[in-house]
Amino acid sequence: MTDKYVYEFSEGDASMKNLLGGKGANLAEMTGLGMPVPQGFTITTEACTQYYADGEQINDAIQAEILTYVGKLEGMTGKKFGDLDNPLLVSVRSGARASMPGMMDTILNLGMNDEVAARFAEKTNNPRFAYDSYRRFIQMYSDVVMEVGKSYFEKLIDEMKEERGVKLDTELTAEDLKELAEKFKAQYKDKVGTDFPSDPVEQLFGAIKAVFRSWDNPRAVYYRRMNDIPGSWGTAVNVQSMVFGNTGDTSGTGVAFSRNPATGEAGLFGEFLMNAQGEDVVAGIRTPETIDQLKDENPAVYAQFADIVSSLENHYADMQDMEFTIEDGKLFMLQTRNGKRTAAAAFKIACDLVDEGKITPEKAVAMIDPKQIDALLHPQFDGAELKAATPIGKGLPASPGAACGKVSFTAEDAAARGKTGEPVILVRLETTPEDIEGMHHSQGILTARGGMTSHAAVVARGMGTCCVSGLGDVTFAADGKSFSLGGQTFTENDWLSLDGSTGNVYGQQIATVPAEIGGYFGRIMEWADQYRTMNVRTNADTPADARQAREFGAEGIGLCRTEHMFFETDRIAAIREMIVSKTVEQREAALAKLLPMQRGDFEGIYEAMEGFPVTIRLLDPPLHEFLPTDEDDIVALAADMNISVDELKNVIASLHEFNPMMGHRGCRLDVTYPEIGAMQTRAIIEAAINVQKAHPEWKIVPEIMIPLVGEVKELAFVKKIITDTADAIIADSDVALEYKVGTMIEIPRAAITADEIAKEAEFFSFGTNDLTQMTFGFSRDDAGKFLDAYYDKKIYENDPFARLDQDGVGKLVKTAVELGKSTRPDIKLGICGEHGGDPSSIEFCQKVGLNYVSCSPFRVPIARLAAAQSALNNK
Ligand code: PEP
Ligand code: MG
Repeated sequence: MTDKYVYEFSEGDASMKNLLGGKGANLAEMTGLGMPVPQGFTITTEACTQYYADGEQINDAIQAEILTYVGKLEGMTGKKFGDLDNPLLVSVRSGARASMPGMMDTILNLGMNDEVAARFAEKTNNPRFAYDSYRRFIQMYSDVVMEVGKSYFEKLIDEMKEERGVKLDTELTAEDLKELAEKFKAQYKDKVGTDFPSDPVEQLFGAIKAVFRSWDNPRAVYYRRMNDIPGSWGTAVNVQSMVFGNTGDTSGTGVAFSRNPATGEAGLFGEFLMNAQGEDVVAGIRTPETIDQLKDENPAVYAQFADIVSSLENHYADMQDMEFTIEDGKLFMLQTRNGKRTAAAAFKIACDLVDEGKITPEKAVAMIDPKQIDALLHPQFDGAELKAATPIGKGLPASPGAACGKVSFTAEDAAARGKTGEPVILVRLETTPEDIEGMHHSQGILTARGGMTSHAAVVARGMGTCCVSGLGDVTFAADGKSFSLGGQTFTENDWLSLDGSTGNVYGQQIATVPAEIGGYFGRIMEWADQYRTMNVRTNADTPADARQAREFGAEGIGLCRTEHMFFETDRIAAIREMIVSKTVEQREAALAKLLPMQRGDFEGIYEAMEGFPVTIRLLDPPLHEFLPTDEDDIVALAADMNISVDELKNVIASLHEFNPMMGHRGCRLDVTYPEIGAMQTRAIIEAAINVQKAHPEWKIVPEIMIPLVGEVKELAFVKKIITDTADAIIADSDVALEYKVGTMIEIPRAAITADEIAKEAEFFSFGTNDLTQMTFGFSRDDAGKFLDAYYDKKIYENDPFARLDQDGVGKLVKTAVELGKSTRPDIKLGICGEHGGDPSSIEFCQKVGLNYVSCSPFRVPIARLAAAQSALNNK
């Protein structure tokens, strides 16, 4: 049991991130480095966990400890909560181990009340500043602590500006702001039902609880699910004495990166605003100045800042994202953290840091988030089409890539339409953390307001989603259902294309082409491949997919789903004919049509794989995916088979299954109809012989894989069909072809009898899609309908079909590995379920000792990097 829940900044350091959160640990580290940090304390993540354990209460002991640290802070600053002569004002900010945009961010100026504001006005001789700070505090507290929407307050500000006939907030006088503060408090009382709290201690506990609560708000929970962050981590709370960027023209506030977060270019990059506080820079209400202009504004502060930035970057050996405030010409650092960056910037920065001698190649490989690679591999606009198109506006190139979709005006709408597969572009005045799900389901995001560090820009970059921000020419109609840009009016369903690399916006559809990879990406991947101990194969069903995967570095095929070779319209009839055949003759006629198609595809796949191993799985068609349902298809098929439509309909009806996922599929088909397995073996072996003859420089060793095995005897039965067929063909040929026979492990019974299974199988490939389905007992096709309720109720944190359930399904995998090796020590082990492309699941595969992971072609680079990181982590 811990009995310390609060740390002064001077008590911590960067290594204490788990306890102090990222923000708190870095404030502590900067304090230790002697940098100008306004002092304060951090309430630990364990206090957050305890808050939940105590039924969402801060217990007496922790409350007392917090008050002790308030006392210490008062001692350190010589200021006191609620004191009229020298009031202590603080900021309260959340800070988890990983930065989480879904959570509560900041409350500034806590400690203000009517009396403090009045005295503050007198003492500073700056009533405008005092009342500006006060009204901001009421607004932020109401919004983030009591959840009274921001818009009520913004409306009051707009009304006041209109009454006074002014345009900018800065044109409001001290008296105006004082009046606004009164109106804000009245609004608070109206919405909350009680007076705005004037006691700073009450304000502080209200704010701390709000941070703890925000850990579990729906946006944060969603963000965690997307980013594999466990709910058990909790957030820390940072309480820091205020410094003010809004005392007048010698004060200001800003955010900066030590390198360009969009391109990775070296050099300070950022924005600031004079006479402003916190949110002003990112809120996009006033347009910030670039950090270079600070040189003219205050050269001494600029020089000091530049110096601190370079020490921080050297110290952390990574690109830093910093917040600072200048109070009456004096610089203060409010935050530093490793900056979020685009995928392209991530690769450039990692390589540059190696070249600058600041990090090793190992560190370069470790510092890149494998999920980000997705963005690099994403399509760009087709060059010719782009050339022919004329932009209708240009905003900031906030997050690169090309996006084309139909306009959507709300996050809910974008999420709903995006989920159905419709490409949408979310068009907003600005985005807020509530919009995160809609942003996630959009192809691209366009905002009218906000700079390169606005919410939309930062979040889109993190997601790898294309974003153009701050396009001020976008004018929304009053009803919010259309906007105009470049003389055109757009409503829902109009096409829009965004170029997140240039900021250009096009009022039309523009085709996209796959991304080109190389350069920095190539260097990192080369290093990754050196550290990797697992192979990375691909799941590819066609020669084209196989070639794509080779380009991405696949070292073989881990799964060729032979039933997927028949999805195309000109082929589906042949496989349907096979499925609905009632007699052996009918089936053999259908199989004769399938044989040349399969053989041709297999040849193409062996060619594409250039001698790398190729695992081909026998047919595993869940019947509901293949049976014809369309009247036209049924009529055509009946004609093909020379039977009546009614007869065919009867067969189809007889094949209906209640649980097709657990029905007549996989090896069960070969047990019933051995001629299917025989035909497929013939295609696999004949194709291999043909390609081997054409390429004596390669050694082709087909791996024939039997799906959905649960019992060793059914495996032995199907294996015999394969070996009888293959051996006869090989004996008749002039090639001494070798081949292997193995099985999927995707049924729990196979996993727990894997010692028996391994006596017959030369390799195992874990089919964790079915293994998850069968272990949980819910269908892959239907789980999406109810899993949301499980996330809401905190029963599951992640989709077990996307991220391997290590406690349950993983235990079966581990058991099967151990049992399999006990009877066949040299058994080859891989995974080919979707989890083979998921970084956290890949780490698990490394730990249990698999030889390879296999995933879809576009995930191959992700898997290569994740496998390298897993190997480094488990060295
Ligand atoms: C699996 O079940 O994990 C698998 C790879 O096979 P399929 O998805 O084709 O059922
Ligand atoms: Mg399966």
